[in-house]
Amino acid sequence: MGNKRVILLLSGGIDSTTLLAKLSSENYEIVAVSFHYGQKHRIELNYAKKNAEKYRVKKHHIVELDKFLFKSSALVNHEIDIATYENNELPKGQVNEYVPFRNLLFISTALSLAETMKIDEVYLAFNSDDSCNFWDCKTDFVEKINAIAISNSSIQIKTPFINFSKIEIIKLAQRLNVDLKSTITCYQPNEATECGVCLSCVTKRKALENA
Ligand SMILES: [Zn+2]
Repeated sequence: MGNKRVILLLSGGIDSTTLLAKLSSENYEIVAVSFHYGQKHRIELNYAKKNAEKYRVKKHHIVELDKFLFKSSALVNHEIDIATYENNELPKGQVNEYVPFRNLLFISTALSLAETMKIDEVYLAFNSDDSCNFWDCKTDFVEKINAIAISNSSIQIKTPFINFSKIEIIKLAQRLNVDLKSTITCYQPNEATECGVCLSCVTKRKALENA
């Protein structure tokens, strides 16, 4: 029998790349799925491709979604500025980088592929830092989708990092020798240079300082 097959949602950021390294070290056969949805930081897909090759995933799908779906999000709409946090004070509650029901679409797409490919596990790198600002990264959200999935399949969403802080993920990344320079986190990078002041950059910098 071959290795167990799983699907992984891979963005090109630290979290999903670390999960890729973890699953690879555990000898899973990985099918990676990334999305182009009009994100300002589409350069992340280059990192996703690079790491998919490095960790020898079985197949890497990049799914296109039309960006008109997400025009209310600062992550997609060029007329809305990404919020910055020069004072390092991070926001509480939903932020304007929230992408409307994006994660439900991503996960539904992965579930379609899982059923088509007869794969029973879909891995996501949600973590406790994400869940502060995004309702669709929380345990409750995942449990509700799993309740739907189980009503007509044996497919389940797995979120092994859901109780991990960004610091814990970076520590795991270091243990697994993940090349953090081959990941990108920023919501508004200039080519491959991170801005240093968006929510994602500040969260990462604080975690790196404490890891
Ligand atoms: Zn940034």
